[in-house]
Amino acid sequence: MFSDFHFHPSLIKAIDKQGYKAPTDVQQACMLDALAKKDLLVSAQTGSGKTAAFLLPILHLMLKGKKNSGAKALILAPTRELVRQIYKQFTLLSEFTPITAAMLTGGEDFKFQASVLRKNPEVIIATPGRLVDHLKRGSTSLEDLEVFVLDEADRMLDMGFNDDMMTIASDTDAMKATWLFSATLGHVGVTNLGKDLLHEPVSIDL
Ligand code: AMP
Repeated sequence: MFSDFHFHPSLIKAIDKQGYKAPTDVQQACMLDALAKKDLLVSAQTGSGKTAAFLLPILHLMLKGKKNSGAKALILAPTRELVRQIYKQFTLLSEFTPITAAMLTGGEDFKFQASVLRKNPEVIIATPGRLVDHLKRGSTSLEDLEVFVLDEADRMLDMGFNDDMMTIASDTDAMKATWLFSATLGHVGVTNLGKDLLHEPVSIDL
């Protein structure tokens, strides 16, 4: 039940507005560990409710924490389309909160994205290549990051983003929580990525 998670009232309002009656399996399995900021290794398919499984705890933690200038949560996803879908769910779930997000993908205006980053959004949702470009040019910094999500990590590896993911991870605070989502945990690259990036992760294989 959603009431098990003691979400901030503005999230409960959004959950009600979306008509979500109960957490999906993946949400139920990872929510308490996510809220406790443990590292997670999760198998989740599209359609499982995985996006809300990471957006809800991110929003809850941001609402509880204090605001500072840098981004506090980063979500990496393999494609422009997936970044857009995550951003769309973010706008619905954050509707009753002051938390803002920047969406960074290739093929969109770089200067416009840099101007959005200057407004210090708490959350960045990005494809790896474009985020690396912004980091190189100093448009943003990841040193205040508290949560780092890799969504569809298997696809990001298959698309050749391993080095970009490692570059990005090396720019983040060592104390952050890292949540790695993949369609399958059997992927050799995902196992290796988990070894590199996760610290004593909770493994959720549904
Ligand atoms: P996803 O797997 O993240 O792409 O989510 C698939 C769909 O499930 C999205 O349209 C979500 O809005 C919806 N969804 C997420 N969580 C729930 C829930 N607890 N109850 C009903 N629908 C949900």
